[in-house]
Order: sequence, then C-alpha cells, then structure tokens
Amino acid sequence: MDIRGLRAPQDVSQIPTSWYNIVPDLPEQLPPMLKPNGEEVRPEDLEPIFAKELIRQEFSREEYIGIPSKLRETYARLGRPTPLIRARRLEELLDTPARIYYKYEGVMPTGSHKINTAAAQAYYNALEGVKRLTTETGAGQWGSALALGGALYGLKVRVYMVRVSYEQKPYRKVMMQVYGAEVIPSPSELTQSGRAVLREDPDSPGSLGIAISEAVEDAATHEDTKYSLGSVLNHVLLHQTVIGQEAMKQMKELGDYPDVVIGAVGGGSNFAGLTYPFIREVLRGRESTEFIAVEPTAAPTMTRGEIRYDHGDSAGLTPLIYMYTLGHKFVPPPIHAGGLRYHGLAPTLTILVKHGIVKAVAYPQTEVFKAATYFARAEGIIPAPESAHAVKAAIDTALRAKEEGRSTTILFNLSGHGLLDLKGYDDYLAGKLVDAEPG
Ligand SMILES: *Cc1c(COP(=O)(O)O)cnc(C)c1O
Repeated sequence: MDIRGLRAPQDVSQIPTSWYNIVPDLPEQLPPMLKPNGEEVRPEDLEPIFAKELIRQEFSREEYIGIPSKLRETYARLGRPTPLIRARRLEELLDTPARIYYKYEGVMPTGSHKINTAAAQAYYNALEGVKRLTTETGAGQWGSALALGGALYGLKVRVYMVRVSYEQKPYRKVMMQVYGAEVIPSPSELTQSGRAVLREDPDSPGSLGIAISEAVEDAATHEDTKYSLGSVLNHVLLHQTVIGQEAMKQMKELGDYPDVVIGAVGGGSNFAGLTYPFIREVLRGRESTEFIAVEPTAAPTMTRGEIRYDHGDSAGLTPLIYMYTLGHKFVPPPIHAGGLRYHGLAPTLTILVKHGIVKAVAYPQTEVFKAATYFARAEGIIPAPESAHAVKAAIDTALRAKEEGRSTTILFNLSGHGLLDLKGYDDYLAGKLVDAEPG
C-alpha cells in the first residue's frame, strides 16, 4: 500500500520540519574526533574542507535541527515522503503471521537514500558561497547523488572515481556526467597524492582510500571548493532521519507500529535514517522495539571488528574516529554490495551496538542474493545488493515468527534499487557468486 498515493505529491507539509540528532540521547557521551597527536579536533580545524553549517551540525548537541524550507521543498520535489509499502505477497509466500513493511528509498531520482544528504550538503555549501564540491565514489551511488545535489543548487562537482569502477561500471559514471559532474578516474595526475601513487604504480586500479585523499586535497587547496562525505559523520546520519520520521508517521496512519526495525549497514547512514527516530522512543523508555543492523560477512565491521580510534580512510589522512573498525588498511573481498565494503562505522551507531540497543548480524552474499531474488519475484522491486542484506534479515525474522507461531510487525529499509547492479544478479543466477570472508 503506497500511502503517498492517498494525497497530492509534492506536498511540502508532509516533509518533516527538522532532523533528529541522536547524540544528546545516547547512553554514553560521544567520544570526540582526535588529531593524530591526540588533541581533540575543533570545529575550526574542519573549515578548510566543510561548510560552516555542516560543521556546526557535526558538533551539535541539540536534539532537533530545523530543515530549511527551501530544502523541504527540494525533498518534496524529489519524491519525499517516499512510500511505506506492506509486502503482502511476500508475507503470503512465506506463509508467516508477521506483517512486513518496507520504506522504499529507491524512488528517489538517483535510486537510493543518498540524495537526502547530498541535497542538504549542496544547499548549505551554495548558501555559504562555495562554488565547487569534491568527493570520492566507489561503485558510484554516492557520486551520482552529489552530482544531482550540485545540479540542483548550481555547484560544480568533481568526483574522484576509483579507476577500476570507472572502467568496469560505466553507467554510474554516465549518470554523474548527465547531471553535469566531472568524473576523474583515481589515481589521477591532478593531485599530489594521485601523482605519488602513479609514480609507484602507473597501472594502479585505485582504491576508495586513494580517492578520498585526492578529493580532500583538491578541496583543501582550492579557496572556492569544499569536500563532501556520504556516510559515517554525524551530520550525514542526521540528514537521513527524514526517512524514519516519515515512516513513524506512516505506520501510525496505518494503525501499526514495528516490533523489529531492520537496515543494512555500510557506514550506517540509511540504517540510522530509518531507525534513530524509533530508537529515540526506546531510549526514553516508551517502546521496546528490537533493531537489527545487517552487514556482509565479507566486511564484518560490527560482528568481528573492534571498538577503538581509527582513521576513516586507508591513507590515514582523516581525523581519528572512535568506532567499530576492521582497521583502516582492511581490504575487503570484492563483493557486489560495494556500499557495504567500508572498514569503519558511524560513531553513534558504534555506541548503540556496544550497548546492545542495536543487534548486529552478518550474511554471506549468496544468501543475500537468494533472498533478494525471492523478494523481487514477490514484490516486483529488484533491491540494491546493499539493501538486499536488510531483505534477507527481514525474511529470516518473518520465518522465525512463523516457527514460534507469533505475530510480529517488521519494518525494514529498502535503501535503493538494483537496476544498475544487475551484474551481481547475473553472477548469482549463473551460480558464479563466491562467499569470501576475511581470515
Ligand atoms: C551507500 C549505500 C548503502 C550503504 O551506506 P550507508 O551509509 O550504510 O547507508 C546502503 N544502501 C544503498 C542503496 C547505498 O547506496
């Protein structure tokens, strides 16, 4: 049931008026970011690379931060509120007493939730007179979202795209170019860090770590340019909380409330976006909802990583962040869910997992693609390989409810569609997928 269909689209009054900041509600104080010498990072340290308002939000301890009305209009025009759909045919096929709902972010123009923060970041940068944004992208989901953000607010965007992806996944590159972004295969000759890598290895396939170094250096060395990040940081997770606030309202309108809320986790932004408004109710003792964070066994940050300070990038250029990490040198096996191959985790989510408020599970990709294919045949939507991890956990939860003969309301985030990720499905259907785990 698409409840957005019950009213006129592009209705700004249906867009939340503020983002929810979980930081003041956490069960322990959020440890600060540190410089390599152990000193705390101060807001002004980040000014060469981020817009001032985004830095303010990053350090904010306010519970709610207002969404500017221009940005609420943009959210409405892009298709928010996104639909909350009851997966009735999936329920029937599973023969489960569970009610299964999903929040579908794949209707956003770039195909995932990432535009929710890309639009906000472009908006604030444009407001502060920034002319150009740089970022990195692996598979291209984040790069295409920021490219659209730049197009909407009149900013130039340069995306450093990991060279192997640039060569092997041309469609995301084309998408970014259609939106007017400049896409540079990384490592490149345009930065010192890129040139240093190319001197050592002229055929370097690149990595997300190298691309981050290039994008940060580009922003730091150009007066009119700032850098944008698509996950992990507080302000990025904050922007995604429109998802959960909408879902809470939509569930209430349907007369239901979830017992279990599920999301896939790379850096944690779509998971936080859906769950944090519901977690708030648990932290205040008003609800006893269960939360399941799903990751791949190939990059088991929460289930096998450790909690400590670590760098956000593999080159070690970013500040030290207190988080679950597999180590910033960790190179995950090349699974199809490219957006879940990150070594670290958002600090706020780290604390919630540490305190047992969020439970973490890991699945191998063959099981994930099997669940996603089952879901596609039931509901029609082909999930992004990342989102498919949440699908798998939702199906398992529904089957457990059936075994236990208990009715449960499940809500999961279908963070994106997989129409530009069909290679993964092709490999799955051909029996060519392999499950790799770190040793
Ligand atoms: C990038 C991405 C993810 C993983 O990133 P998070 O910050 O953990 O949300 C998940 N799903 C989709 C569709 C993505 O594009």
